[in-house]
Amino acid sequence: MEVYDMLIIGGGCAGLSAGMYAARLNLKTLLFAELPGGLITTTHIVENWPGIISTTGPDLGSSLWEHAKASGVIMKSETIRSIEKQGDVFVVKSSRNEYQGKSVVFATGSLHRHLDCIGEEEFKNRGVSYCALCDGAFYKDKVVAIVGGGDSAAKEALFLAQHASKVYVIVRKDVLRAEPANHKLVMSEPKIEVLFKEEVEEIMGSKSVEKVRLKSGRELDLEGVFVAIGQIPSTELATQIGVELNDKKEIKINRHSETNVPGAYACGDCTDTEFKQAITGSAEGVTAAYFAFSYLKGGGGF
Ligand code: NAP
Repeated sequence: MEVYDMLIIGGGCAGLSAGMYAARLNLKTLLFAELPGGLITTTHIVENWPGIISTTGPDLGSSLWEHAKASGVIMKSETIRSIEKQGDVFVVKSSRNEYQGKSVVFATGSLHRHLDCIGEEEFKNRGVSYCALCDGAFYKDKVVAIVGGGDSAAKEALFLAQHASKVYVIVRKDVLRAEPANHKLVMSEPKIEVLFKEEVEEIMGSKSVEKVRLKSGRELDLEGVFVAIGQIPSTELATQIGVELNDKKEIKINRHSETNVPGAYACGDCTDTEFKQAITGSAEGVTAAYFAFSYLKGGGGF
């Protein structure tokens, strides 16, 4: 069986950047992606990628994908189910195939956190959504709510306001912790009403969502509930080879994007980096590629 120089698990900004650099360093690189382009493809407008004043998440995701491919990365749309280390070789398995690599990069990203309130599961895809870009257009001239008080909630509220007649933003604290530029836009958008110190108790309806009841007792008539309350890192796979996590279940990496397991690297939203941005994940991916290259050469630089 062919032994690749590098296996990359994840095809978001971090994994694709690692792949593009690894291929340019002449490493035979195989990348596995469930969602080509990753989480950024579910974002509407991206205005903080250096060098591009404004683009869309899908466009950025697909440019990174094409760039990695053009550099020589081999792409597989397979989900990796397990990994083990046999001597110095990493062996990964999907439901169909097995692959081997001398180094591995975990770029496994994160999953949407759920509200875990009554009705959330029942109305998933019938009014409850985790992606405004994917589903927002279904709510033209309708009333919707977005739950969350971070930058994702702010950005999704702005996108939803382009379609919906009204957008409630339900924030459990008394502050919206969004990037100042997005914060300003949310506060000045007439279609958006921010409800502070409110939490969803129940999502109600018959065939689809009709209403939410808040813990304060207030009820909102609406047709869509978008949940943007953060992410849970996808790190179970990494633990199978003894990669250390922190107490938030994020992969611990150093400034070389190295994990505690020799030959295993991590980058992007699955890591313990505090400031998680597309560009920081990308930079961690590039760093992982360079230090994996150095590891495979037995140390040192180019
Ligand atoms: P986040 O910053 O972790 O914010 C999550 C928000 O949801 C917080 O307001 C939190 O409230 C709230 N929340 C959590 N659990 C809740 C619950 N059960 N009920 C109600 N509210 C709940 O998440 P995010 O906005 O998705 O951002 C995640 C990461 O992605 C951040 O590091 C962010 O910087 C990054 N991001 C980057 C970009 C970009 O590259 N431009 C864009 C968007 C996001 P509390 O404050 O009370 O905990």
